[in-house]
Amino acid sequence: ASFGYEDIPAEEKEARVGAIFSNVARKYDVMNDAMSVGMHRLWKDKFVRRVRPRAGEAILDMAGGTGDIAFRMAPSGAAITVSDINQDMLNVGMERAEKRGLTGLEWSRQNAEELTFPDRAFDAYTIAFGIRNVTHVDRALAEAYRVLKFGGRFFCLEFSTTEWPGFAEVYDAYSHKLVPRIGQMIAGDADSYRYLIESIRRFPPMPEFERMIRAAGFTRTKVEPILGGLVAIHSGWKA
Ligand code: SAM
Repeated sequence: ASFGYEDIPAEEKEARVGAIFSNVARKYDVMNDAMSVGMHRLWKDKFVRRVRPRAGEAILDMAGGTGDIAFRMAPSGAAITVSDINQDMLNVGMERAEKRGLTGLEWSRQNAEELTFPDRAFDAYTIAFGIRNVTHVDRALAEAYRVLKFGGRFFCLEFSTTEWPGFAEVYDAYSHKLVPRIGQMIAGDADSYRYLIESIRRFPPMPEFERMIRAAGFTRTKVEPILGGLVAIHSGWKA
């Protein structure tokens, strides 16, 4: 499996990704603001507008971490389950939810590759900045498909590759030089952020990822690039 600049045995990736998020959990939200100069908030707002959660729906927010996506969907009245493989991230999320008085969320530790939910349990599945950390992306997509009802929607927000010339170079320089430094300054951890940047570079480009979503069984797939594809919203439908 790819892990930052290295290739490592697949069975190691999960533990190493786990260590990274446990390390940064407490600083995760500040880091997102620092690294994206607040832009991640706009991307997440846009993502949730696409999901259009509605009251009465059951929605699974996978790799939900500290709750950013779930908190944005909660006002809709949908029943939201936040799942993540990392208990430290979920703990921070639960504390944040309590502070905001958000009591209706379900929190459930889960590996995206093998969910314990029954078939056809959800109306929508969301995953934001999570799928590239999963060891076997195809297994996570198959599980997303399995737990969705017929007519259910799949939405993924993830970094991709910008197709804007010039911008790509600027972003490359920024991410390789500055991001690990910011990681060092704020979270005291440059290596975790080196991994995160490299995992972005290694993730399949938009058309290839869309093909993977189709291969999992989804139809009517769509890709919406943001900033030329620096970030992208992929979606699909379970017919
Ligand atoms: N969705 C949140 C957000 O947008 O702020 C958190 C994104 S964070 C960059 C990535 C999350 O993916 C981490 O919380 C990590 O624990 C989780 N993750 C990594 N591998 C996972 C897996 N196999 N199953 C479920 N969650 C996983």
